[in-house]
Amino acid sequence: MNDMRELLQETVERAAKFLESLPERRVSAALNAEELVADLGGELPQKGLPASEIVERLDMIGVQGVVASAGPRYFGFVTGGALPASLAANWLAAAWDQNAFSEVGSPAGAAIEQVAMRWVLEALELPADAGAAFVTGATMANFTALAAARRAVLLAHGHDVDRHGLHGAPEITVVVGEQAHATLFKALGMLGLGRDRVCRVPVDAQGRMKVDSVPHLDGPAIVCTQAGNVNSGAFDPVGAVCGAVQGRDVWVHVDGAFGLWARASRQFGSLSAGIERADSWATDAHKWLNVPYDSGLAIVRDAGALRGTMSVDAEYLPGRISRDPFEFTPETSRRMRGVEIWAALFTLGRDGIEELVDRNCLQARRFAAGLFDAGWEILNDVVLNQVLVAFVDDRITTDVIRGVQREGTCWCGKTNWNGRAAMRISVSSWATTDKDVERSLAAILRVADDIARPGV
Ligand SMILES: *Cc1c(COP(=O)(O)O)cnc(C)c1O
Repeated sequence: MNDMRELLQETVERAAKFLESLPERRVSAALNAEELVADLGGELPQKGLPASEIVERLDMIGVQGVVASAGPRYFGFVTGGALPASLAANWLAAAWDQNAFSEVGSPAGAAIEQVAMRWVLEALELPADAGAAFVTGATMANFTALAAARRAVLLAHGHDVDRHGLHGAPEITVVVGEQAHATLFKALGMLGLGRDRVCRVPVDAQGRMKVDSVPHLDGPAIVCTQAGNVNSGAFDPVGAVCGAVQGRDVWVHVDGAFGLWARASRQFGSLSAGIERADSWATDAHKWLNVPYDSGLAIVRDAGALRGTMSVDAEYLPGRISRDPFEFTPETSRRMRGVEIWAALFTLGRDGIEELVDRNCLQARRFAAGLFDAGWEILNDVVLNQVLVAFVDDRITTDVIRGVQREGTCWCGKTNWNGRAAMRISVSSWATTDKDVERSLAAILRVADDIARPGV
């Protein structure tokens, strides 16, 4: 046991050193995957190595391929870092190694999940009696919620899809906004609804679904809306869509991977007005709530629809208690995923979640103002935490993005917006201070001037 304690203590030291290096560390990785592969392996050894050597090698070699996304100046992919309390909870729970599929496997897992679920529903102002599944991310949250939707809209027509599949089922009309997230189409594909067999509703300049263009629905239908466009941050008018498409066989789903958290803010919450009228919501915890990967939530108004889709029967499985986690998720055996969400919500409190959302949104505005004042073009209305900026033309914009990534002060990715290349700045980390924003802004402006205005 002494060896174990030493190993963990050594690991703590190494991890702490890494975390302490984050504020000054280059954000992009020092080595690429190809460069790392050779040093991490070779042939599978005949005889294994001591654990401490493995940790040492991981720290010396692996860390060179780590992107400092846990740090304060990473603005890629709308992901946050990990709050200290959520990281610590993750470690402790990893040591517990619980199979959180059921209360039988882990009373703590079942209890923590129940509380985390209640707190999430409170924070997001969603119905208290909704059902929720703790899944790996928004892709699986969309999949899970849409599976419940598929069941419900077909049951309204007397067809049990979970028993009989789509064989002989009435066709489901699937409606999506023109700018639905790429992973939503994957979820539709996995559900047998088809990535392409969808009705795409046109959107406005910010990527918002035009309510007037939502088709008249006849027969079972699923309408997929979005809260937080992954580029612009804009919200579909979900409340208005719900008003336009009522019916027992019509289900409205909201993909709110990061945007749903705006509901915790009095200042930015109005973007999501009416969202509570929908039938299901998908969100991530590893984005704006700043917990470790992989963590997302599928929330379904009719908990029975979710349970009906995901529950299983086997002789050795426990009998029904009030809420057994495995009855709501696609996975069965799994880690105690709710624990980091519980810890993050506990450490933030209502005030802390609101402060995090407000701070990041104001920081996004500061980025936009600084770039605009320097003469660069802001392509979106900065309504939330997303900024899209272009530098002269597509070629120069691409070069600036590459230059910023190489320079290393901060990291921003590339996207396409209404046919143009753009740099996307997503501010969603608990660790980002106003100073980090100024420092990153200065770096971006320096690189942009060097590339786009040489000699000026
Ligand atoms: C990030 C994102 C997803 C996919 O989430 P994962 O956690 O990567 O599975 C889906 N929809 C939207 C709007 C997103 O921002």
